[in-house]
Amino acid sequence: MLYSFFALLALFIITTLTRTVLLSRREKVTADFREVKVRLHEAVERLSRAIQFKTISRQDAHKIDGEEFKKMHAFLEEAFPNVHRSLSKEIINHYSLMFTWEGSNPDLKPVMLTCHLDVVPVEPGTEQDWDHPPFQGKITDEYIYGRGTMDVQSGVMAILEGAEALLEQGFSPERTIILGFGHDEEIDGEFGASEIGRVLHERGTELEFLLDEGLPVVEELIEGIKCPVALVAIAEKGYLSLELSIETEGGHSSVPQGKTSIARLGEALHRLEENPLPAKFDGLVKSTFESLCSGMPLPLRYVFANLWMFKGPLKRFLATIPATDAALRTTTATTIFESGVKENVIPTLARAVVNFRIHPNDSLESVIEHVRRVINDDAIKIEKKFGFIEPSLVSSVKNEPFQQLSRSIRQVFPEVVVAPSLMVGATDARHYSALTPNIYRFFPLRAEQSDLDRVHGTNERLSIQNYGEMIQFYARLMINAAAVNPRTSISANFKPVDEIKDERKVKAS
Ligand SMILES: [Zn+2]
Repeated sequence: MLYSFFALLALFIITTLTRTVLLSRREKVTADFREVKVRLHEAVERLSRAIQFKTISRQDAHKIDGEEFKKMHAFLEEAFPNVHRSLSKEIINHYSLMFTWEGSNPDLKPVMLTCHLDVVPVEPGTEQDWDHPPFQGKITDEYIYGRGTMDVQSGVMAILEGAEALLEQGFSPERTIILGFGHDEEIDGEFGASEIGRVLHERGTELEFLLDEGLPVVEELIEGIKCPVALVAIAEKGYLSLELSIETEGGHSSVPQGKTSIARLGEALHRLEENPLPAKFDGLVKSTFESLCSGMPLPLRYVFANLWMFKGPLKRFLATIPATDAALRTTTATTIFESGVKENVIPTLARAVVNFRIHPNDSLESVIEHVRRVINDDAIKIEKKFGFIEPSLVSSVKNEPFQQLSRSIRQVFPEVVVAPSLMVGATDARHYSALTPNIYRFFPLRAEQSDLDRVHGTNERLSIQNYGEMIQFYARLMINAAAVNPRTSISANFKPVDEIKDERKVKAS
């Protein structure tokens, strides 16, 4: 008896430790790839000029300043001569751009990189809070300042810089590379990315994979994880607002008759918030935490590597933190409540709007069904408001595209852990969903938690060093995804001007 107890205990320890060790291993990044030569100071000047175009998306799509987009197109033509010579350019719906870099093997499905040309406006009254004017493109010793340096003209420019540098170094892809730059992502991409997606779909284009902007490289993601984490969103939450309304007998407040519409709707909302859609600790969230294992100290690693044992308590703990709770389930938030006009009149009508961000485990239909069941009051009308979106499919992390993407990230950011993740907001990526099931959302931006307020906020800025990494990343990804032999695909003879100057300096001193 005692013998079998110890045998079981030994088996248990061996199994859990083996899982801990296995999940702690990180793929080694070999240093046998050649860095793409980039003249960084010239690239920074070009980014600064791009920031100066006021390609602003305002809520009313008709208020677009088309001239600014056209000026930016002209600037790109001047800034990237090789790209414009070797790739075919199409202007889609006046202001969006698509480039096609034809590969030598037509049997391979193209890969597509996307970002957007538009930026959000600067909130009126905050202009003075910027250290440097938002559309000046100021370059300091360390940073480039301005609207679009983080979201996401830097991405457009880094992709084009990467392609330009590869062309200079004699790279020619075997797989076709498509670059797509929409012009209205900040107001849902209805005219930009959606149109690019439609054009490609009509041509019958099927992609190997698509990389859109997305989550960054986060410096301190969770306490206890010592290294930065590159979050690659493999799915995107859906969106739904429901209007709930109820009409009851009104009348004078001196003679109330039963529950008022306010009270009944209030009760329904209370039930909804008390009974959110269930949290699930499986699939996507599980693979996020398993990927994070290698960056954790041993005790935490043991817990996360053996989720089969710790799943329950861990789920309860993570649900107490709003940010992780939002990754585990469809969230419920009452955002509008309206009723009543006068203090002595019982209102007949009460209405509220509840906003849901739908987890890929749920759907529009299952959320509405849940609401109906929880409210359990036939007098309350439930109506879908316009603008709803189903959650995206969950892209695989076990396929070659995800491996190429992770490898490219680790080659440029060797110290990071790559973790699949869920995008809580929306990007242009959904407009391309008909072209491939392999859609990833990642942006090679290094961000500390405090930097995230700068996105869409004040003092948006990008470090020059990080911009260099961005260019390397996109160039590296194009090589890894589209070259016959990634190791020998670029010429070693190319010398960037920076380097020639440095050599001269060495000789002179
Ligand atoms: Zn963006």
